[in-house]
Amino acid sequence: MSSQSGQFLIRFWGVRGRVPCPGDETVRYGGNTPCIEMQIGEQRLVFDGGTGLRVLGQAMLREMPVEAHLFFSHAHWDHTQGFPFFVPAFVKGNRFHIYGAPSPNGTTIKKRLHDQMLHPNFPVPLQVMGADLQFHDLRATETVQIGDVRVENDRLHYPGEALGYRVSWNDCCVAYVTDIENRPGDLDEHILRVAQGADVLIYDASYTCDSYLEKVNCNGGWSHASWQEGVRIAKVAGVRQLIIFHHEPTHTDLFLDDVSSKLDQELPGGVVAMEGMMVEVCPSPLKGKSKAVNVTMVS
Ligand SMILES: [Zn+2]
Repeated sequence: MSSQSGQFLIRFWGVRGRVPCPGDETVRYGGNTPCIEMQIGEQRLVFDGGTGLRVLGQAMLREMPVEAHLFFSHAHWDHTQGFPFFVPAFVKGNRFHIYGAPSPNGTTIKKRLHDQMLHPNFPVPLQVMGADLQFHDLRATETVQIGDVRVENDRLHYPGEALGYRVSWNDCCVAYVTDIENRPGDLDEHILRVAQGADVLIYDASYTCDSYLEKVNCNGGWSHASWQEGVRIAKVAGVRQLIIFHHEPTHTDLFLDDVSSKLDQELPGGVVAMEGMMVEVCPSPLKGKSKAVNVTMVS
């Protein structure tokens, strides 16, 4: 994905949680696990390395040499399983800055990515990757400045912990909040801090609270959130555009179409993320109140 120097573009390369789910019933929304690319002015950021990262890597091969900043929300399999297949990382001359928080037992993101490529899990170790890989351990609430792009984070309520990210550039802001567990009662102050006033909120909505079984999940205890909770947060935080994300693998295209229409009733303009979707966050960042969020599909 290329952008002009005055743009903030998001492209969705993988939108599923848990496990890839290709097939006839998921072909429109897509079956790859989380990976989002943000082209922000001169900077290229990537969030999470699910199987969508493999597809992004194929696109990057046409643009080498490449430099990008890859942020991991956490190191669960669905967010890291694309990394061993990220071909640009094997190519000398490319450079990737890789960020993530150590897990509660102190294991760094470098060790998590390294260990998943050890025999017998994978035939090629991380050391074979020829690109310049620079690893950074993040602390909760630490700010990373990349040129004129600011990346803040906060800890999310999730088993094993995950980070939510807030990406700011000029007067544009995108919040990336996945994986997060619904908790009944008050809104989570950490989420609100990340999402407050954002132009776009990308939010974990693995569940819907409409069915009995998922209602149990919506009361907490199942590690993920619902689109209804996303609507609640978007309204309280004054978000301009909600995009629900990290879809449950059993949710078919028809199911997600139904979620999309219900979401639009609750929060007009709310969007269900699809693979290939492109979001132009602030087409006119210098025009203040007139700025808009444009959502398009890329073939
Ligand atoms: Zn996940």
